[in-house]
Amino acid sequence: MLTYETYYDSPLNNETPSPDDPTKGAEKILEWAYQTYGDSLVYACSFGAESMVLIDMIARVKPDASLVFLDTGLHFQETYDLIDEVKERYPLLSIEMKQPELTVDEQREKHGAALWSRKPDQCCYIRKVKPLEEALSGATAWISGLRRAQSPTRANTDFLNKDERFQSIKVCPLIHWSWDDVWDYIEKHQLPYNKLHDQNYPSIGCVPCTSPVTDASDERSGRWANSQKTECGLHVAPPTSN
Ligand code: SF4
Repeated sequence: MLTYETYYDSPLNNETPSPDDPTKGAEKILEWAYQTYGDSLVYACSFGAESMVLIDMIARVKPDASLVFLDTGLHFQETYDLIDEVKERYPLLSIEMKQPELTVDEQREKHGAALWSRKPDQCCYIRKVKPLEEALSGATAWISGLRRAQSPTRANTDFLNKDERFQSIKVCPLIHWSWDDVWDYIEKHQLPYNKLHDQNYPSIGCVPCTSPVTDASDERSGRWANSQKTECGLHVAPPTSN
């Protein structure tokens, strides 16, 4: 297996995808990653539009791949409906619904009502970051659907990234994809998708922290709208307290 130091500087990580490759390097990276990491590669799937593309590609590369969904208990019903559709369409995939230690009610009792409004970083830590830490405890690498075009904070993402937060390697096959590329693929392959995408929700997370967008050019503007927060904490430096 390649260590971080060897693969990070390898031609693979810095390769410019061939113009003839409609997946812009995604399939090649997925094949390499599953060959390299095997069962210790986990896809942390949000079931957003990018996820549908990755699920479809992964199901062809490794039909019994492991997915983990961070089930905060605060997702839209449309998201849970989509997960049911995915389970039907890709029955061999293993989908773990990873839940936080505290239920929503227990969190309210321990930390007060609507923690997401008062201390969203703490809420994300409890309901997303900590559960992913646990889910990745036995994994060498994980897959994420980050794209460089999503936001300035993601503009420098590589195919393979050293992940200090989870002491792991983060594999990002879609870094060169645009939002239009994602939807062209979904339409071409007739993939299921979250119905909220048809109602101006390009990026979908928990109900309290997701709004429809008014500025179509900013895909993530509906996440934690009217606040400084832009990331749930899975892709940034860890908080200093929980
Ligand atoms: Fe809590 Fe909002 Fe983060 Fe969900 S997105 S875990 S509700 S702060």
